[in-house]
Amino acid sequence: MIKVTVWNEFVQEQFDEAQALKMIPGDDKAEIRKGMVARTQEILQVHNGAIHNTLKDLLEEDEDIQVRHICTLEMDECGLTKEVLDDTDVLVWWAHIAHDRVPDEIADRVRDYVLRGMGFIALHSAHPSKPMQKLLGTTGSLQWREGDFCRVWNTCPTHPIAKGIPASFELEEEEMYGEFFDIPKPDDLVFISWYRGGEVFRSGCTWTRGYGKMFYFQPGHETNKSYFNENVRKIIRNAVKWAEPTVRVDELTCPHAEVSPESKYQK
Ligand code: ZN
Repeated sequence: MIKVTVWNEFVQEQFDEAQALKMIPGDDKAEIRKGMVARTQEILQVHNGAIHNTLKDLLEEDEDIQVRHICTLEMDECGLTKEVLDDTDVLVWWAHIAHDRVPDEIADRVRDYVLRGMGFIALHSAHPSKPMQKLLGTTGSLQWREGDFCRVWNTCPTHPIAKGIPASFELEEEEMYGEFFDIPKPDDLVFISWYRGGEVFRSGCTWTRGYGKMFYFQPGHETNKSYFNENVRKIIRNAVKWAEPTVRVDELTCPHAEVSPESKYQK
């Protein structure tokens, strides 16, 4: 059984008139506020109350995967206590508008757990999240445009994350993410996406960091239905299985190596 923790920022799902007024005051900004609150309703309709519900459902379609914890920004320590992370094989991260509100201390903790072997799956707008930036050392910046058609190309059919995925599949509506995507060269580029605007994007990338495996996957804009696409669901489950730790270590310090008795340099 692979133990998964889903971390969802869980901010836009709870956005209401009062919060909108606090964030964007002024009589002349009423239309913008109305749009933001309307977006919340759209998200709630697509995701049955919260994005983490959708993610939990799609993950647990595989009987080898168990979502042990759902953690959000508003919880103490963002829910990511050492006890929770010790009980996590793979951490799935969805976030969008409040990356800066994740304390550095928590992002450092996530990075350290990945370096010591925990798997990490960053979804969609997690591209500039603190854990991803700290693990990759780049900004994760890209260009974007909402409401496009997307074709996802399978560029690594032998990869475990691409198991059962066709040569390409389409998402009727998804947010365009385009190059240049500021990431280090991936170990494996498993998917590339194409959009109607002609843009292309490295939409499925793997890296190893320390003892941990990580995967970034683009689909999953909050108002679109990508997480209900069978291929997208399968890819996220495949990614969790691939990222399951092979080995976990307690610390990353340099151990002092004793000279072996066989060494010719031993006195
Ligand atoms: Zn988005």
